[in-house]
Amino acid sequence: MSEYDFDLFTIGAGSGGVAASRRAASHGARVAICEADRVGGTCVLRGCVPKKLLVYAAHLRDELTDAAGYGWSLDGEPTLDWARLVAAKNAELDRLNGIYLRMLANAGVEVIEGRGVIIDPHTVEVRGHRYTTERILVATGGWPHVPEIPGAELGITSNEALELTQVPARMLIVGGGYIAVEFAGIFAGAGSKVTMLVRGYGVLREFDDDVHSALAEELQRRGIELETHTDVESVERRGDGVVAHCRGGHEHEADVLLWATGRWPNSRGVGLEEVGVALDDRGAVLVDEWSRTNVHGIFAIGDVTTRVALTPVAIADGRALAETLFNDNPTQIDHEGVPTAVFSQPQVGTVGLTEKQARARFARVDVYRTHFRPMKHILPGRQERTMMKLVVDKDSDRVLGVHMVGPDAAEIIQGFAVALKCGATKKQFDATVAIHPSSAEEFVTMAKPLE
Ligand code: NDP
Repeated sequence: MSEYDFDLFTIGAGSGGVAASRRAASHGARVAICEADRVGGTCVLRGCVPKKLLVYAAHLRDELTDAAGYGWSLDGEPTLDWARLVAAKNAELDRLNGIYLRMLANAGVEVIEGRGVIIDPHTVEVRGHRYTTERILVATGGWPHVPEIPGAELGITSNEALELTQVPARMLIVGGGYIAVEFAGIFAGAGSKVTMLVRGYGVLREFDDDVHSALAEELQRRGIELETHTDVESVERRGDGVVAHCRGGHEHEADVLLWATGRWPNSRGVGLEEVGVALDDRGAVLVDEWSRTNVHGIFAIGDVTTRVALTPVAIADGRALAETLFNDNPTQIDHEGVPTAVFSQPQVGTVGLTEKQARARFARVDVYRTHFRPMKHILPGRQERTMMKLVVDKDSDRVLGVHMVGPDAAEIIQGFAVALKCGATKKQFDATVAIHPSSAEEFVTMAKPLE
């Protein structure tokens, strides 16, 4: 019998922590998981899931508008009951929270309510009670980062944006990343006049240049104002709303200001520094390819680490860790070629290298690109265009990157991510018979590289 209360003590019951704990318990480990909030974490409670539900709702505006082009008469202007939508969304989150709790109970994982603090590499304290454990897994996730400027507290973050009781008439969104463009789509679809203030040259700066320019064009086509090279220096209350003062002296007024300025790791107050766990300058836990920190017996996965902050990555790393520790099955996750999607309107889907990254690594790169109006948009007269792009290593013929801005990009790119994992060549893309009529078929019918 072990000298410890548990074999694994997980701090944080988000997607990564829950996946690791369940897998460890399935291999016979005695596992506890503690959580300061509700079980589910960012993805289920404050991120992917509620966001996607609101994205569906916002996107229905397009469908309702376009229905007339297909002969439908919808009497009167459609209206959105935002409060009803938020209530339905919250009911779904309650259901998922219940499922997570049941899954943990069925797996035999002990759920402990409260914030966990590491006392030493074999002890975690939760609400005054000390538990001993052979190993500790830190899976505390991340939290919205708000710039430290005067009046910053007058803005909200994505956490509160998901709970707004009404749709603001005017919304300012600061930032140009995933959360900024997704919430711009949600609130513009719900009827807000949205202005995005981006400090750099555009949205989704880390994506392929054609992705960020195609998306910027579509956001603006939807009436979203996009102001680049803009730094917000302070925020003030004005009437019932706020005003953002920008460098250079100009200002923007709105009912709500949303900070979408990145998410930082939740590593403070967990006892990490006290026991000597190494963190980077943003507080992210440094881990090796086995999710080990520099302190023996303490591991970390998910958004609290320096790895890419995506739910499926946290889940994969969590399961790999459980396999390694408790199933005598050493497993590492390949963090290269992770596909990702942004649920903006229209969507972005991408896997592999951007053109810039490919040109930096390979001597000769071919680029294939197409812009077109999807068939579905023709009858309603919607002007929105789709952009699709392939980046190919000319010497080996391997496809290095697949990028798309357009409807269903997330669904389409998932399959191409498998092809890239298998090392598919452009010739193999060309030898694949198209599915017609579809947008996805463009990826297997692009004949000529750009000059
Ligand atoms: P991102 O890192 O994607 O974007 C942050 C944005 O904020 C960038 O435009 C950045 O500008 C800007 N920014 C950062 N600091 C400041 C500042 N002080 N003042 C003004 N602008 C600033 O972060 P998000 O918060 O959007 O999302 C966090 C992460 O969560 C994502 O990177 C992603 O990994 C994950 N996520 C995934 C989703 C999905 O899979 N669909 C959805 C939502 C989040 P600059 O480019 O100049 O640095």
